[in-house]
Amino acid sequence: MTKGIPHEPTLTPAATVSALGGRTALVTGGGSGIGRACAVALADAGAEVHVVDIDGEAAKAVADSIGGVAHAADLADPAAVAALPADADILVNNAGLQHVAPLTDFPPDRFTLIQQVMVTAPFLLMRQTLPHMYAHGWGRVINISSVHGLRASAYKAAYVAAKHALEGLSKVAAIEGAPHGVTSNCVNPGYVRTPLVEGQIQDQAAAHGLSPGDVLSDVLLARSPVKRLIEPAEVAAAALWLCGPHTGYVTGISLPLDGGWGAN
Ligand code: NAD
Repeated sequence: MTKGIPHEPTLTPAATVSALGGRTALVTGGGSGIGRACAVALADAGAEVHVVDIDGEAAKAVADSIGGVAHAADLADPAAVAALPADADILVNNAGLQHVAPLTDFPPDRFTLIQQVMVTAPFLLMRQTLPHMYAHGWGRVINISSVHGLRASAYKAAYVAAKHALEGLSKVAAIEGAPHGVTSNCVNPGYVRTPLVEGQIQDQAAAHGLSPGDVLSDVLLARSPVKRLIEPAEVAAAALWLCGPHTGYVTGISLPLDGGWGAN
């Protein structure tokens, strides 16, 4: 230890299991897919979890299964966001939706909705939870971005724009949060096995006259050397690691979970 220079308490490399007892987490879109997996992982690590979803029944089912608290809220509604708890130590901005159309046909109302749910709501939730994190000198903001936060694809203008905006927002939170013990990071999965993607496989199979297996290997995973979808639990494990004891120095990053897509 160097005298006068701030340091973290000594950690052993083996202290990898997150102990989140006494911490409170808020997970948006926690009723399904990646959000549900994050809620389960955080609860397993001891956190009290607020499960937020526009689908109140789904939120309740997840909350009941993990001893958490359900909130039915439409994140496109700022008043509904303002009614959510502000005393979260961990904020997982996960809720999202997709719309696929060429730019020239892209419905402006869908574009606006996607920015509201995937950019404005994360901003509002950071704005209302960061004071609690700052007051306690510890906090974790996990933004579930995407490969599409770093790269673009045709026909996904709103989604790609929103994920790129989330990347910028996450970095600002990292810089402002650093003096307060708060980190902010993005997790950037490729295609995850969730209802959102399973629906896309069926749609593309019908549109292109391909089998679902061919859509998977020739369309979705064409650039990915690892020829399988990533599981929600694998994304949740990365989110949990970012809440753990060794990651106070990991902030402002984008963590690709892309099966080698970015290397290809
Ligand atoms: P999902 O459809 O399984 O779950 C999304 C959840 O968000 C649903 O429960 C839905 O009800 C909720 N939601 C949608 N709009 C909402 C609103 N207005 N207010 C509150 N809740 C709302 O999707 P998923 O695949 O688990 O996606 C979760 C996140 O992961 C999204 O941000 C998505 O962009 C991102 N992501 C997904 C993939 C993938 O391949 N599935 C890849 C990269 C990133």
